[in-house]
Amino acid sequence: MTVQTVHFSRGIPPLEAIPSAAIAEHTSAVLAAESDRVFQYAPIGRHTGDQELREQLGKFHSVDPDRVFVTNGSLQALDLIAAHLLRDAVEPHVLVEAPTYDRAVQIFERHGAHVSGVPLRHDGVDLNILRERLRSRVPAFVYVIPDFQNPSGVTTSEDKRRELVLLSAEYGFTILEDIPYRELRFSGTAPTPLGELAEAVDGARVLTIGSLSKVLSPGLRVGYVIGPPGTPHALAALAESTYLSPAPLLQVVAARALANGLARENIERVKQLLHPRHDAAVEAVQQTLGDVHLCVPEGGYYISVHLPIRSSEETFLAAARKDGLALTRGSAFYPADCEPPSGTVFLRLPFQALDFEEFAEGVRRLATAAERAA
Ligand code: PMP
Repeated sequence: MTVQTVHFSRGIPPLEAIPSAAIAEHTSAVLAAESDRVFQYAPIGRHTGDQELREQLGKFHSVDPDRVFVTNGSLQALDLIAAHLLRDAVEPHVLVEAPTYDRAVQIFERHGAHVSGVPLRHDGVDLNILRERLRSRVPAFVYVIPDFQNPSGVTTSEDKRRELVLLSAEYGFTILEDIPYRELRFSGTAPTPLGELAEAVDGARVLTIGSLSKVLSPGLRVGYVIGPPGTPHALAALAESTYLSPAPLLQVVAARALANGLARENIERVKQLLHPRHDAAVEAVQQTLGDVHLCVPEGGYYISVHLPIRSSEETFLAAARKDGLALTRGSAFYPADCEPPSGTVFLRLPFQALDFEEFAEGVRRLATAAERAA
């Protein structure tokens, strides 16, 4: 009998979470009425991003549209910000949560940064270790994913957010807060966004990186940066010299989806779809694996575990693969100078695309594989 593989490997939206038919309707309407505009170059100048889209994103986040800069997905935002902030730095140094989003680390390294990890606890980075690091060297920026973090599921607590913002002012570094999962909260109260906290603290500096990938559609490739006045202009200069602007058609379609409530409706739909998957995933992990999860997430896509094993990660993953489990290599989420606690493997378990039975079966296989590797 062939075993169906359970895929704990990709953090992409399930097809049911993308309102394709409604987006297609908007696209047809835009093509019918505004093809002259969307097939021409977008105007360039102090801003990058369709004005209507910047206004809608400004409304969505209650900020001045002048502070919004639009990119091709948030990955490009990370790339341009890294280029901007690391440009003049000598031997630039960046701090990230450990574990963190692996692609971000690759981008920062490509821009010449030495990337160093600060261990992540159930409620955000370890602030004692962060303070120690800051005392020895101030980084060009600190990168955090404060809501339902990829890969761990951890949300940074209100207290830690306040402290991070105070540290930004005290030491003079920028915080990048990457928030693709923020809207997908299933329970509990949302802590204050770092960008909002920074407005009340003299000298604190936060750049917020957003994305429509998890709330509307990743194929539209709409990401954005919300920064203090001035930053979007500096980024616009970089954009102009590389790709001018994101595709006008996709931006206008995204703007309409925000303007007429499709994005908000879709967020509610996605939450209804994912909430029961989340509950089932938490229960399966707690009942089958015990107390090995980093946190109980209140939203997002991920729950994660530090699973005690004796064998190497490589041996464990190869054995799990034979048992019908596709897993992402957990050490890939750690920057080079950090690793999971000794005697454990780190595993990200995305629940957004798996039905209850599939997830539970995956966790049972994981328990068996871990027993064998213990
Ligand atoms: N940041 C984080 C934390 C992510 O998890 C992802 C996507 N998985 C991205 C950025 C990239 O998203 P986008 O599709 O907007 O480029």
